[in-house]
Amino acid sequence: ETIGQNFERTVARFGEREALVDVAAGRRWTYAQLDAAVNEVALGLLARGIAKGDRVGIWAPNCAEWVLVQYATAKIGAILVNVNPAYRAHELAYVVRQSGMRLLVSAVAHKSSDYRAMIGEIGFADAVFIGEPGWDELVDSGRRADPALLAERAARLTFDDPINIQYTSGTTGFPKGATLSHHNILNNGFFVGELLGYTEADRVCLPVPLYHCFGMVMGNLGATSHGSCVVLPAPGFDPEATLRAVQAEGCTSLYGVPTMFIAELALLGSGNFNLSTLRTGIMAGSPCPIEVMKRVVSEMNMTEVAICYGMTETSPVSTMTRRDDGLARRTETVGRVMPHIEVKVVDPETRLALPRGVPGELCTRGYSVMLGYWAQPDATAEAIDAARWMHTGDLATMDADGYVTIVGRIKDMVIRGGENIYPREIEEFLYGHPDVADVQVIGVPDEKYGEELMAWIVMRPGAEPLTAERVREFCAGRLAHYKIPRYVHVVDAFPMTVTGKIRKVEMREQAAGILG
Ligand code: ATP
Ligand code: MG
Repeated sequence: ETIGQNFERTVARFGEREALVDVAAGRRWTYAQLDAAVNEVALGLLARGIAKGDRVGIWAPNCAEWVLVQYATAKIGAILVNVNPAYRAHELAYVVRQSGMRLLVSAVAHKSSDYRAMIGEIGFADAVFIGEPGWDELVDSGRRADPALLAERAARLTFDDPINIQYTSGTTGFPKGATLSHHNILNNGFFVGELLGYTEADRVCLPVPLYHCFGMVMGNLGATSHGSCVVLPAPGFDPEATLRAVQAEGCTSLYGVPTMFIAELALLGSGNFNLSTLRTGIMAGSPCPIEVMKRVVSEMNMTEVAICYGMTETSPVSTMTRRDDGLARRTETVGRVMPHIEVKVVDPETRLALPRGVPGELCTRGYSVMLGYWAQPDATAEAIDAARWMHTGDLATMDADGYVTIVGRIKDMVIRGGENIYPREIEEFLYGHPDVADVQVIGVPDEKYGEELMAWIVMRPGAEPLTAERVREFCAGRLAHYKIPRYVHVVDAFPMTVTGKIRKVEMREQAAGILG
């Protein structure tokens, strides 16, 4: 099945049910209305000469048009290129050129000096701005076109055609373009929705960016493949707007990276939010602190909330907690492998499988593994081995029952005086300090030990900034001496990607400056 076929099946079954709400724009669509709007955009793209396999970029914050373009490109077999809305001229130029983009759809707010600088850099000019006459002309031309053209194009598409280039978050370096097929992402979205128990009665609140697989696959495809409704609370992340949208729209599901849930939990005390309609949701994207998970269950009414683990390259979800896992497993692990996928833990050097319980590199295999990195065969060969296993770069353990725990990224592991230290363990421990709101631990170069630990701490409102001395006292006798951070740095926030991931690379760079 292609994404277009699956979407039309939902339209046929749930045409009169609500499909999409854009809260900021004050607009809503039923599935029948959404389908009509998608078809206009799809026919408009055809009228503009977009061929099967052409790359069409979208560079915009969350909005209804994003969703229209997603399904319109899928229906005509154009490859959607998700462009991070936070990209500036140089990064934009990179993805436009790297993907060989034919047309860029963008938000008016982005028609800035960055856009002009990008044009100056590469001479690319074919763009349509949502909210400007160009967008209306595209839709109008679609309205005037012969709908039979769409069916003609649909007949030429197959489920394993590439349909999407998603650039990775750029947490560890420059983003790479994962090329994904209908089969890759539609199946993954479907199974995520299936395991959350989605039906046409569910309303899924998405404060997470659509440009990222979290929003567009786990969110949009997860919901539409089950006839559920997608609610977009705001263009960018806004905790207050998110909680208001949950309440006003009666959302049953809410997604977020850990930092988003931390911000929402902080608001709960101050506002009067009724979250009683919430049932489920997903926390994912980076290590999910156990305390935060527990509070989401008890304070946000998300009794069935799941943790997902995955990466852009694997469509994205590889493991997920299930509703009937006990609370401990639902907060402390990233669950078990998804249906029709395999996982194993290997020695990163020898690439041989390790016994259960021993930390090593997590590898995944199955329908979800990307076609490859767009136009980067060497990077693809490095990530996917000859037996089609994707090497994730993440360290994990798997217990006897198949539950996976993410220990950290291989690149973030600290080696101090020959001891392997996983920052995650120390972060979890320091979360237990009553004055700590958020904490991240990195390794910094050290002459004697090779590396030393440095904790970056965000204090709870009103708390005295912690010193290295006080952190040492807190850890003494409860953590092995070599795991106690030598340096403590109190900050207001961590350097982050727009997807809300903490950029430890940047923290390490800044730490070099701080420590001299
Ligand atoms: P880049 O590959 O460009 O450095 P990135 O790896 O952050 O960026 P994504 O594909 O968005 O880009 O993120 C996938 C990564 O996020 C995983 O490899 C893993 O490190 C982390 N991750 C995702 N979910 C979880 C989770 N539930 N727990 C811990 N880590 C997670
Ligand atoms: Mg990655």
